[in-house]
Amino acid sequence: MFSLLPIQKIHDGLLPHYKGQVDVLRLDKVHTIVSGNKWFKLKYFLEAAKSGQFKSIATFGGAYSNHIIACAYAAKLSGLACLGIIRGEQPAALSPTLREARAHGMELIFVSRSDYKDKAGIQQAVDPNGTHYWIPEGGYGLLGTKGIRELYTATPIWTYTHIFMAVGTGTTLAGFIKGALPYQQITGVSVLKNAYSLKEEITALLTPQEIEKDWQLLENYHFGGYAKKTPALLDFMNICAKSVNLPLDFVYTAKAFFALDMELSQAALPPDAKPLFIHTGGLQGNQSLSDGIAGL
Ligand SMILES: *Cc1c(COP(=O)(O)O)cnc(C)c1O
Repeated sequence: MFSLLPIQKIHDGLLPHYKGQVDVLRLDKVHTIVSGNKWFKLKYFLEAAKSGQFKSIATFGGAYSNHIIACAYAAKLSGLACLGIIRGEQPAALSPTLREARAHGMELIFVSRSDYKDKAGIQQAVDPNGTHYWIPEGGYGLLGTKGIRELYTATPIWTYTHIFMAVGTGTTLAGFIKGALPYQQITGVSVLKNAYSLKEEITALLTPQEIEKDWQLLENYHFGGYAKKTPALLDFMNICAKSVNLPLDFVYTAKAFFALDMELSQAALPPDAKPLFIHTGGLQGNQSLSDGIAGL
């Protein structure tokens, strides 16, 4: 069920803009359901739940959330019950993501989009006695960075100089910044539009020394906003799937990999530069695309 972490080599000249080689750490292949970065982000939250003698975890997410499905499955594996607070009224037909989460034993509670903003209020109303271990939306937090940082020992990340990844909460990015070596530049690509507090939320996970490391957050590759897409983005996904043999999801990894292709093509890279893209998974999210669009 779990496999070693494969590194895919994308050879010179295959990408639309950047003509050099890029390696891709295929975290999407870690596990068939708890795909990508979520497995690493959840690890220490689940340990905290178990060591705190909790019998259940609870968390928040949208109807196509990779975090929701990862929590549902990881809780099942850990022998914990699981509650999902879902953004928006219950639809007539559940999304494939929610159907699968429920099939893995997650109990779903739907809350309106306006109520959803008050996470603390929901937690108080749903769980007044504190019987659930609450994992923040998206697995944000220091415990999440701890699991991500372990990638530095599990894979030869030390051999790379320029590392790119998609950013939602920034927990994965913060984990990489923590592990970063002096010759490495870490780039996060935000998939959110107008996320004014994102940078602050990332630096809140870092020490003053870590903040001074070589890292950046790119905020111009959201393609209209979270889960929005354009024909150019879908074209790029199709090129990557068909010509490069790299499947991407339209919410996160396609936007981040597009950014890598553009940025590296415009950068004056030293001859010994070795770029790495972190494929953070999320391919299940393509289920919300109509058939055939992504070429997957
Ligand atoms: C959740 C997710 C991210 C974002 O990770 P953060 O640690 O929240 O920034 C990126 N890519 C994929 C595919 C994801 O599912």
